[in-house]
Amino acid sequence: MWSKVPDNPYLLLTPGPLSTSKKVRAAMLRDWCTWDDDYNIDVVEDIRRRLVRYATSSPDDYTAVLMQGSGSFGVEACLGTAVPGSGKLLLIANGAYGMRMVRFMETMGRSFRLLSFDETEQADPEAVKGVLNEDTAITHVAVVFCETTTGILNPVERICSLAKKMGKATIVDAMSAFGGIPMDMEKMGIDYMISSSNKCVQGVPGFSFVIARKSELEKCEGNAHSYSLDLYDQWKTMDGKGKWRFTSPTHTVRAFQQALNELDEEGGIEKRYGRYSENQRILSEGMDALGYRPLLPQSVQSPIITAFMYPYEDFDFGKFYRAMKSRGFVLYPGKVSKAETFRIGNIGEIYPEDIKRLLKTIEEVKI
Ligand SMILES: *Cc1c(COP(=O)(O)O)cnc(C)c1O
Repeated sequence: MWSKVPDNPYLLLTPGPLSTSKKVRAAMLRDWCTWDDDYNIDVVEDIRRRLVRYATSSPDDYTAVLMQGSGSFGVEACLGTAVPGSGKLLLIANGAYGMRMVRFMETMGRSFRLLSFDETEQADPEAVKGVLNEDTAITHVAVVFCETTTGILNPVERICSLAKKMGKATIVDAMSAFGGIPMDMEKMGIDYMISSSNKCVQGVPGFSFVIARKSELEKCEGNAHSYSLDLYDQWKTMDGKGKWRFTSPTHTVRAFQQALNELDEEGGIEKRYGRYSENQRILSEGMDALGYRPLLPQSVQSPIITAFMYPYEDFDFGKFYRAMKSRGFVLYPGKVSKAETFRIGNIGEIYPEDIKRLLKTIEEVKI
């Protein structure tokens, strides 16, 4: 069937939406009714169960709630539902996605404290501990797993386990990490983790999901700042029944199930992490040989996306971008405030051979 699906004109070397397989796209070529078991149970409930199993070794203690909209809708739903009006959130930020959480909290009018770090620096668990010791009003802690702004990894396990020891609930934006980096929410001390359909699971855009510790989410009835973004209500409607409160993005959801099948076939998250890491290694070594320096030291670099410095002062990224796109590769502009950078993603239906072709093409275009 998928032979009829058109091919992509270029590879997306971006942090999402990203290049998907033909079978994932082909899975969208039929319609579904949202009141029958063949969608609600066989697709939605199946996905929820499998997500929890991928997220933790204690699946009985966690649940997955799917939410319409892109990843940001999931983050806003999670913050607004998990942190009550009487609570206070410690927000840890070292990039644009950490700062986006600040905007959500400000807009919702909820109480928070910001602990920020330089964009090229990991969040420091000792500093987190210091703030938690000093500000006892804090009830929740939120951090970004892989800050896609730069591709930096944060020490999520150290931060979350110390926060848990101090009695705080923990929220992790693992948008660009889940599915591509092995993690065990229970072992890492994570209560809520947010990701979306179009990142490392390699589905198409359209919904986000929150994997939550049931005993925490159970406390959240009536907390939400918004009617449609009420994660608790969405959970209670969906759980066991596969029903979404409002129209469900059926085609995207079915494509996501196919993406999970392909994650299984690849051998799971550990194997996918291996492929992404190999992509990243070949990319950074090859770029180095071509004279492009990475923004981050390799010790804090994720296998998800890599930021490169402009190779010389008047580097014309627009020209480079167009030359690369016409040769089949879409790159990504930079987002760092203090340096001129561009980014190359390693995630999606991308293999070491693609990265090798990419490097050869970069060498040829000579911008
Ligand atoms: C992609 C991403 C998001 C969500 O962005 P959307 O544009 O809403 O999909 C949030 N956090 C991180 C770290 C991301 O990489």
